[in-house]
Amino acid sequence: MAELRFDGRVAVVTGAGQGLGRGHALELAARGARVVVNDLGGDRSGAGASAGPAQAVADEITAAGGEAVADPGDVATPEGAGAIVQTALDAFGRVDIVVNNAGILRDRSFKNMTVAEFDAVIAVHLRGSFLVTSAAWPHLRERGYGRVVNTSSPAGLFGNFGQANYAAAKMGLVGFTRTLAQEGAKYGIGVNAIAPIAWTRMTEDLLPAEFADRLGAEQVAPLVAYLVHEDNAETGEVYTVGGGRVAKVFVAEGPGYAQAGTLSAEDVRDNWAAINAAEPSTAHRSMGEQMGPLIRRLTGG
Ligand code: NAD
Repeated sequence: MAELRFDGRVAVVTGAGQGLGRGHALELAARGARVVVNDLGGDRSGAGASAGPAQAVADEITAAGGEAVADPGDVATPEGAGAIVQTALDAFGRVDIVVNNAGILRDRSFKNMTVAEFDAVIAVHLRGSFLVTSAAWPHLRERGYGRVVNTSSPAGLFGNFGQANYAAAKMGLVGFTRTLAQEGAKYGIGVNAIAPIAWTRMTEDLLPAEFADRLGAEQVAPLVAYLVHEDNAETGEVYTVGGGRVAKVFVAEGPGYAQAGTLSAEDVRDNWAAINAAEPSTAHRSMGEQMGPLIRRLTGG
C-alpha cells in the first residue's frame, strides 16, 4: 500500500509547541505537509505567553528537511485565530487541514469552580476551535476540500471528577464536530474528533510515570494523520486513541419505551427498565436520523 503523503497540502496545528500538537505537526510535516505551528506558549493553566515553543517546533521541522512556520497567537480571540489562518495563507498560499488541539486545564471540584475557571477553559478549547475553524472555513469551502480534526477527551465523553469546565468544552466539541461534518459535506470538508490519552505536561501528574514511553504523542499522531488525509472519507465521528489502540466512540440510543397516548410521570416510572435498556441500540449519525422513528410513529408511517 502507498504511503500516506501530504505533498502540496497545508496544515494548521494549534497548540503545537509541545505535547500532542507537536506530535501532530511533526507527523504531518514528515509526510510532506507544510505546517503552521501555532502555540501561545503559556503554562498548563493558560497563564503567560512565549513565542519560543512554536518556533522551536517549526525549527525542528525545518532542520529535518520539512516546511513550517511558527505562529505565537491565541486561538481564543478572533484576532489570534484569524492571524493563524492568515499565516498559512501568507507563507504557503492556502490551507487544507486544521487540527484544533490547543488546550489548558483549570481543574477544580464543581462546588469550588469559579466562573473565571469555567470561562477560561471553554474559551480555549471550545471557542478557540470555533474561531480557528471559522477563519479557515471560507478557504476550505472555496477549494471544495478540507479536513478538520477537533480534540475532545474521554473526560468529556465519559465524565471526570474535577473537570466540569473541561468536560463541558470537550463534549461541546463533539456536537460541534458532528454539525460541521453535516455542513461541510457538500464542500468536500471532512470533520472528525479524537479523544486521546497521552503522557504530556497535562497528564504527567495523573498517569503513572512508567507509562510515559508507551503513551507517547507518537501513538496519537497516526490517527490524526489518517483522519486529515484525502483518502479518509469518514466524517462526523469521534475516536479514542492512545497507547497503540484506536476505537470509534458511538453516540447511541436504546430501543426505549413508546406509547400511543400522552405520556405521564407514572408511565415513565412504570416503564423505567425499558427506558434504560441498552440493547439493541442504534448509533445515529445526525439528529434527523435520530428523529426518524418518532416522525414515522407520529405520522403512522
Ligand atoms: P499540552 O499542555 O502539552 O499542550 C497544549 C498546548 O496548547 C500547549 O503547548 C499550550 O501552550 C497550547 N495552548 C494553550 N492555550 C492556547 C491558546 N489559547 N492558543 C494557542 N495555544 C494554546 O497538553 P496536551 O496533552 O498535548 O494537550 C493537547 C490537547 O489534547 C488538548 O486539547 C487536551 O485537552 C487534549 N487531551 C489531552 C489528553 C492527554 O492525555 N494528554 C487527553 C485528552 C485530551
